Amino acid sequence: MRLVTVTAAMVFAGLVILNALTVGYAVVGFAIMAVAALLATRAGEEVGRLARPAAVSERAGEPLAAVVAGLPDPVIALDGNGRVLTLNEHARTLAPALRQGEPVSLALRMPELIEAIGRAYASGEEQRVEYSERVPLDRWFETIVMPVKRQPNPQRPDLVLMTFHDLTPLRRVEEMRADFVANASHELRTPLAALSGFIETLQGSARDDAKARERFLAIMQEQARRMARLIDDLLSLSRIELNAHRRPDTLVDLVPIVRQVVDGLETLARDRGVTVHIEAVRALTVPGDRDELVRVFENLVENALKYGASGERVHITLTQAVSLGGEPEARVSVRDYGPGIAPEHLPRLTERFYRVDVSESRAQGGTGLGLSLVKHILNRHRGRLSIESMLGAGATFTVHLPIVGLPPTDEIT
Ligand code: ADP
Repeated sequence: MRLVTVTAAMVFAGLVILNALTVGYAVVGFAIMAVAALLATRAGEEVGRLARPAAVSERAGEPLAAVVAGLPDPVIALDGNGRVLTLNEHARTLAPALRQGEPVSLALRMPELIEAIGRAYASGEEQRVEYSERVPLDRWFETIVMPVKRQPNPQRPDLVLMTFHDLTPLRRVEEMRADFVANASHELRTPLAALSGFIETLQGSARDDAKARERFLAIMQEQARRMARLIDDLLSLSRIELNAHRRPDTLVDLVPIVRQVVDGLETLARDRGVTVHIEAVRALTVPGDRDELVRVFENLVENALKYGASGERVHITLTQAVSLGGEPEARVSVRDYGPGIAPEHLPRLTERFYRVDVSESRAQGGTGLGLSLVKHILNRHRGRLSIESMLGAGATFTVHLPIVGLPPTDEIT
C-alpha cells in the first residue's frame, strides 16, 4: 500500500511541475488514489484472513478424511471438543444421526461410549468398550477410542479416533459352539445315565434274576449303540467341517450309489413294510466324494423309511436338470407318503440336534444330526438340499449337485 501511495504522490507532483495539473486537482487526485489503495489493501487483508485459515484447515483435514474414508471398519474422528471432524460411510451406516461439526454425543446414545470418550479426553489414554444393540438385530461391537495429540504438548488431545469392530459373527460362533457342546453333552448323558442305572440294578436287586438280566442287557446294548452312533456322527461332522473348503474333484456316478444305499436298507424297508421304487437316468455323474454321498442318501432314505413308513412306499428319482442359476445339475429326490412335516419346522430341520418330535427320533434311533450332516456334505460339494412337505401329504427331500462340463443325459432306465 505504501508503494502505491508513494508512486501516486510522485506522479501527481510531476504533473504539477510539468504544469499539466493545477495543485488543487493534483491534491484531490492523490487523495482519491490513496483511499482506493487503502480500501484495496483492507479488502485483500479481509479475503486473506477468511481464506487462509479455511484453506489451511481444509488441507489439514483432507488427508484425515481420505484415510478415514478408506478404512474397512466404521471410524469417526472427533476434534478437541467432541465434535465430529469426519466419518466414513461405515460409521454413517452404523449411526445415521452423526453429522459433521456436531457433538458426537447427540448421535451416539450409548452412555458407555460417551463415558469412554470423556475418559479418553481426560486421561489421553486409549479406551476400549464393548456394547451390544438389541434393535433391529442383536449385534455386538468393540469400540476403540484413541486420543491423538497433533500439537506438541497440548493440554488435551486435539483429535480422537473412534474405531468400531463388529464382534457379531464371533459372538454367534461362540454361542453356537456353547449350544453345540451343551446339546452334545446332553445327548450323551441320557444313554450314559440309563447305562449306570441298569448297572446298579444288575449289581443290586436283579443280581440273581436271569430273566431281568437278559432284558436289561439288551437295553444296555441299545443305549451303548446309541452313544456310538452319536459319537460317530459328531466325528463325521467335524471331519466334513475340516474339509469344507476343499471341493471333491473325483467323478462319481450317483445311480449305483443310490442303488447300493437302497440295497443296504432293504431289511429296514421290509421291517417297516415299505417298498422302494427307483426311477433313474442311465448315469448321473458329478464331482463328488463317494463315501460322503453314500452318507447323504443313507440319511435321506433311512429317514423316509423311518418317519414316512405309514405311507408304505418311497419313490426315488434321479434326473439331470437346470439349476436356479441356469447351470446343469444332478437332482435326486427322495419322496415318502408319510405324515409330512409342518411348515414351521422346515427351515430348522438341518440344524444340529433339531427334531420335530424328540421322543420319536430317539425311538427310531436318531441322533438329530443326520440332516445337518447332509447339509454340510452338500455345502462341500457346492450343492444344496431342498425340502418340500405338507402335513398329511408326505415329504420330498431333493439333493441338488452341480455337474461340470458333462453332456446332458435324460434317458430313463
Ligand atoms: P434324526 O437323527 O432325528 O433322524 P435328522 O437330522 O435326520 O435327525 O432329522 C431331523 C428331524 O427331521 C427328525 O427327527 C424328524 O423329526 C424330521 N424328519 C426327517 N425326515 C423326515 C421325513 N421323511 N418325514 C417326516 N419327518 C422327517
